[in-house]
Amino acid sequence: MLNTGQPDGFKCTACGKCCSGLSEDYAVFLNDDDVHRLAQHFKCSSAEFAQRYCELSVVDVGQISLQLYTLKYTKNGQCVFLGEDNLCEVHEAKPMQCACGPFGLFWHGDRRYECMKDIDVPAEWDQSENTNDFVNGLAEARISDV
Ligand code: SF4
Ligand code: SF4
Repeated sequence: MLNTGQPDGFKCTACGKCCSGLSEDYAVFLNDDDVHRLAQHFKCSSAEFAQRYCELSVVDVGQISLQLYTLKYTKNGQCVFLGEDNLCEVHEAKPMQCACGPFGLFWHGDRRYECMKDIDVPAEWDQSENTNDFVNGLAEARISDV
């Protein structure tokens, strides 16, 4: 994944590891804004985009169950948008979860820095504004609007 804003001291090498190994437990979640932005990127409706590129997943967050779209992935766990050059094919419109990398977000509320390639990520780096937007967007996601 190439990041939209990398912290000082961290350099993504575009190895593609964080866009691989996707599964039900390690998915790319989309909020409404992500779906609309990606649909615009492909010049199609949100419904068409969701049908082509998304799965519907149920996620339990505390007492609440959310139905959310996740990006499809190949049999070997690669994101549908990971190019052969290991770059993101929708970089300008990528989901906020991806744009927050290497800052990882987890459903139980944890936030942590991670880079699958074991590259040091400075602990002082923070994108809390982005990640808060992301979490709020997911909480407000209404599949029926898509
Ligand atoms: S695993 Fe780390 S180095 Fe590799 S693409 Fe992701 S953020 Fe970049
Ligand atoms: S949308 Fe792009 S950055 Fe996100 S997982 Fe897929 S290829 Fe990687």
